[in-house]
Amino acid sequence: MLAERTVELTYDLAKEQGLLHLDLYGETLIACFDCQLKHRAKAGHSLLNFLDTHKGHDLYVLHPVALRQQSSLGSLAQSFADNADVKTAWGTSSAVTCSLASKADNTARESTAVDNSTNKYLDALVYLAIALQAGSPANEKAVYVWVYGSEDGTNYTDNATGSDANVTLRSPHNFKLIGVINCPDSGALTYKSHPMSVALAFGGVMPRKWGIVVENQTGVTFNATEGNHTKSYSGVYATVA
Ligand SMILES: [Zn+2]
Repeated sequence: MLAERTVELTYDLAKEQGLLHLDLYGETLIACFDCQLKHRAKAGHSLLNFLDTHKGHDLYVLHPVALRQQSSLGSLAQSFADNADVKTAWGTSSAVTCSLASKADNTARESTAVDNSTNKYLDALVYLAIALQAGSPANEKAVYVWVYGSEDGTNYTDNATGSDANVTLRSPHNFKLIGVINCPDSGALTYKSHPMSVALAFGGVMPRKWGIVVENQTGVTFNATEGNHTKSYSGVYATVA
């Protein structure tokens, strides 16, 4: 039995009425009896999205009063699973092993490979903070951040080995650029990168293993204390909520 203030909702009706009146209902529930899903309605985008998704389905708007009255329809709707939204989530910021202390100008260092085969992250955002020694940046005044990958977990891009080690960049080499940290000013400054996407370098898909290659083209040697450099990443995954 339909409670007094429960209204059947069609997509056209919702559009016709605008959806703003739903604000007045506070905890209004939209229930789809075809999909057996419920959606806590706050007027606006998410509701429109729900209506779009359930176009032509058997939809009801359940006013809080109707829900309190324990109507059979209300009770049934309450038992439905919540409509799910897929959202972005981030894993804990973790260290990338890549020794950068006293790295000279015009040299490069590769990191230890990060194994993604367990976490299976959809992306990884890499962050670097590079401290320069005193001196005036020259030439390209930049730190280039490249990425290497492994399809089979054994073979790595170009001459990368998967270990924290110096690497001699071939000319041209085959690493993929994921970021440039411009370092224009002298004063032993620490230059911070933006969050750099690893997946972007591989067509949007994460390889089984990956690592970074940091190339110093600042004209200045990196700070001698390893702890003055930050090398980290956060895994990115989708969560259903
Ligand atoms: Zn539906």
